[in-house]
Amino acid sequence: TLTAGVLAVQGDVSEHAAAIERAAAAHGEEAVVREFRHAGTVPDCDVLLLPGGESTTISRLVAREGIDEEIIAHVDAGKPVLATCAGLIVASTDANDDRVGTLDLVDVTVERNAFGRQKDSFQAPLDVTGLAEPFPAVFIRSPVIDTVGDGVEVLATWDGRPVAVRDGPVVGTAFHPELTADSRLHDLALFDGTPAERRDAAAADD
Ligand code: GLN
Repeated sequence: TLTAGVLAVQGDVSEHAAAIERAAAAHGEEAVVREFRHAGTVPDCDVLLLPGGESTTISRLVAREGIDEEIIAHVDAGKPVLATCAGLIVASTDANDDRVGTLDLVDVTVERNAFGRQKDSFQAPLDVTGLAEPFPAVFIRSPVIDTVGDGVEVLATWDGRPVAVRDGPVVGTAFHPELTADSRLHDLALFDGTPAERRDAAAADD
C-alpha cells in the first residue's frame, strides 16, 4: 500500500486523489490518499501531491503550519512529489513575487499567470518524455517557466516553453493533469518509471 499525501489548502484535491488511485491501480497497487492542511501527515507519506490553486495562499499556509520543512525533508529523502500549476510555483526557486514564499524544490524560476495571457485557459495535446501518446494538458492561468537549472530535465514544452519538468524526485507541471481522466502524468511522477519501463524491468527480473 502506498500512502499519498495531497496538500488540501485549496484547489481540485479530490481530482488528484482520484488520479493517484487510478495510477496506483494501473499497476496493481493500492493507494491510501491522505488530504492534509496541517503538519504531521507528510512524514507518513510515500508520495506527495501539491495541487493548483492560488500560490500566494498556498505558500502562506504551508509556512504558517510548518508544512514547508516537512515537504523539504520528504524531497531530501528522495521521495516523489508531483507539483501542478500553483503547486509548481510554490515548489520553484523564485516566483518573481514577494507574496510567494518558494520552497526551492525544483530549480526553475517562474512567472505567475503568464501562460496563455489572452486566453485564460486552454487544452492542448502535449508530447511528454516517457509517454507514448500525447497528454491532454489543461492550462488554467498557468505560470511560465522562465529559467531552468542545470539538473532539471524538461519533459514537455508548449509554444517553445518548458511546461513539464523533473528535478530529481519532483515533477512539476504548468498545467493540470488531474482535470482529465488520464492519470499517466501522476503515474510518471509518483511511481517509479513509466508503465512500459516497469513492464520491461519486471520482464527482465523473471
Ligand atoms: N494563477 C495561479 C497562481 O499564480 C495558478 C493557477 C492555477 O493553479 N490554476 O497561483
